[in-house]
Amino acid sequence: MFLIIRNIKNFQLFYCNIKQKLFQAERVVIGTCPRCGENVYEGKKNYYCGNRACQFVMWKNDRFFEERKEAFTPKIAAALLKNGKGKVKGLYSVKTGKTYDGTVLLADTGRTYVNYRIERKS
Ligand SMILES: [Zn+2]
Repeated sequence: MFLIIRNIKNFQLFYCNIKQKLFQAERVVIGTCPRCGENVYEGKKNYYCGNRACQFVMWKNDRFFEERKEAFTPKIAAALLKNGKGKVKGLYSVKTGKTYDGTVLLADTGRTYVNYRIERKS
């Protein structure tokens, strides 16, 4: 009886390891979390911090990018995480109805939602 229980436990452990490896293989590292320094991964709908205690997440469908008719690509996300800003071409302006090239700044306040800003040219 004891042997059976032990075998089941071994099997569960084995299964968990496989699951973990598969899960890790799926995850693509985008950059480093500005809050805690852990890896940030690309999810289906967002870019999220691998540290569960840290709630840093950037949503792909963030209003900031939607308003500017810009896809929040992994390239932009990587630039924001690395440099705190990233150059983006063809941003749409609601005010003028035209598109322009600009620099998006990551303006993280540490709250639930991360904010973004357009860098003003001085
Ligand atoms: Zn983090």
